[in-house]
Amino acid sequence: MALFDPKAKVISGYQKSIDERTSSIRKYYDEIGKLYYDQYKDMNVDNTKDINTRCEAITRLSNEVEDYKLKILFEKGLKKCPVCGTENSLEYGFCFKCGAKFDEDSAEAPKSDFEKAAAQIEEVAEAASEAETVEEAAEEAAEEAAEPAAEETKEEKKSTKKKKED
Ligand SMILES: [Zn+2]
Repeated sequence: MALFDPKAKVISGYQKSIDERTSSIRKYYDEIGKLYYDQYKDMNVDNTKDINTRCEAITRLSNEVEDYKLKILFEKGLKKCPVCGTENSLEYGFCFKCGAKFDEDSAEAPKSDFEKAAAQIEEVAEAASEAETVEEAAEEAAEEAAEPAAEETKEEKKSTKKKKED
């Protein structure tokens, strides 16, 4: 029956991604153990950087595994309660176990890390452009309030700068 289910293929693709990452995580744990042991054995050895790099990789891979798990749940018509972790039907507005309210977009396909990062960059850019506007407004207000003498100084600076550039 699973053979005729197109979702089964998608799910097994996600499962493969999870398996690959899980085995990478295991490999990194092994390497960290060895690096730490070498450092323990010989006080002149400092493997901190190599250990940290692997710790960061484990964190990233673990997050990706969680993302794939959510994607698999979504394909199965389920979502996870952000409060208690219980699997709920996609259309539920509240967790049937703990009663926590789901976000309105909780029934939408879960975003991957890449998509989340893109959304975050967009948010930061938006905030930055807003800050710029506020800054510009403050600058304009300051210029308006400035003495004519200050304006002259500014002009002088500009011409000095231009001379340097030339
Ligand atoms: Zn819950």
